[in-house]
Amino acid sequence: AKATFANMNQVDPQLGAFLNLNEDQALQQAAALDQNGIDANNVFAGIPMAVKDNIVTKGLTTTAASKMLENFVPVYNATVVDKLLASNALIVGKTNMDEFAMGGSTETSAFHVTRNPWDISRVPGGSSGGSAVAVASGQVPVALGSDTGGSIRQPSSFNGIVGMKPTYGRVSRWGLIAFGSSLDQIGPMTRTVKDNAAALNMIAGNDVHDTTSSKQTVPDFTAGLTGDIKGMKIGLPKEYMGDGIDPKVREVIQQAVKQFEDLGATVEEVSLPNSRYGVAAYYIIASSEASSNLQRFDGIRYGFRADDVKNLEDVYVRSRSEGFGDEVKRRIMLGTFSLSAGYYDAYFHKAGQVRTMIINDFNKVFEDYDLIMGPVAPTPAFKLGDELSDPITMYMNDVLTIPVNLAGLPGMSVPAGFADGLPVGLQLIGKAFDESTMYRAGYAFE
Ligand code: GLN
Repeated sequence: AKATFANMNQVDPQLGAFLNLNEDQALQQAAALDQNGIDANNVFAGIPMAVKDNIVTKGLTTTAASKMLENFVPVYNATVVDKLLASNALIVGKTNMDEFAMGGSTETSAFHVTRNPWDISRVPGGSSGGSAVAVASGQVPVALGSDTGGSIRQPSSFNGIVGMKPTYGRVSRWGLIAFGSSLDQIGPMTRTVKDNAAALNMIAGNDVHDTTSSKQTVPDFTAGLTGDIKGMKIGLPKEYMGDGIDPKVREVIQQAVKQFEDLGATVEEVSLPNSRYGVAAYYIIASSEASSNLQRFDGIRYGFRADDVKNLEDVYVRSRSEGFGDEVKRRIMLGTFSLSAGYYDAYFHKAGQVRTMIINDFNKVFEDYDLIMGPVAPTPAFKLGDELSDPITMYMNDVLTIPVNLAGLPGMSVPAGFADGLPVGLQLIGKAFDESTMYRAGYAFE
């Protein structure tokens, strides 16, 4: 634990993966483990881990990278945090992110930027950019992220690490600061597939505090990692390899296809015809849910309150105007508009219908295939500052990850190669609650 903090203090000032550290507590916890001994079956005892700062940690400041929560100290732990602590893992700190997880570059954080360790002039991706960098730069072997539209997978792709967005309901959302409640999932980010499977073992499972968490039994995700995937049937959606995908990314994925074939899998072209409507539907649905979820930040119950307010209305308006950043305000306005009486049918309701069509596309492919594969993102990591001023370009980055959240399916990024020296991830998409097959394939491939 001491070496971990010494290394973090060396490495992180250049990268900015962390928002705040938990040094005293983690060292105390480590000392207690030294004293009491470690259960040999407990693979995570004493292992340093990082937690995205939208996951609440009792007694440890949790900001969701927003000025609104700058000094917010939670009074309870998220279920996943309790599970980490029950495994005797050490929480070494909270990681930077896009404000309230809204973004794809970690640049909307109210506090500082995070740099990509492969090229510090580039973004780490987002919104779980801090978690991805904490792992990629060797500061910790495991970090937790959250994924509403791609926020675990895209930064994993940009940093050359493994990131799993589990099936909706696989992991409890209790204590995850809500963004889009029908889309949000917490998942592990690691350097290897095996570590990732072990970390999902640790955090998965039903939770009475989250009524959307599933009662499905949780298998041992590390069990099937044999390297044998002969006979596996994989679909490659033609929509995921077409226009708009950087040719160098496409090439890496084509290489991956060959590798899967060499391993004895069959890879065939399939179609997800409605996936191109995913971005439009997602930004209506996610923003609508966000506009509702973020109502609680009213300047009274949590966090930031504006100074010198005149009356109650002023408390609300000024606290929210000053406490939220531009991207969060954009989502609140978009969501409030989509849900308003005159526009509900044209936008929110319509987006829900599109969501059903996207789900049906996946179901059809999964009648014949075990897995779907393709790129995670259309490009490798872009330069800091390049896309922040252009929300639509930023939103289009999510075109390949969003359909998975809309359908509630598990999606994983596995390092597949490089384009111009920058990491490129392969996305594996599984059937609901079949993360095991994804891990089996990812393990054979990596
Ligand atoms: N980039 C997407 C967005 O801005 C996804 C974010 C996420 O998954 N949290 O909404």
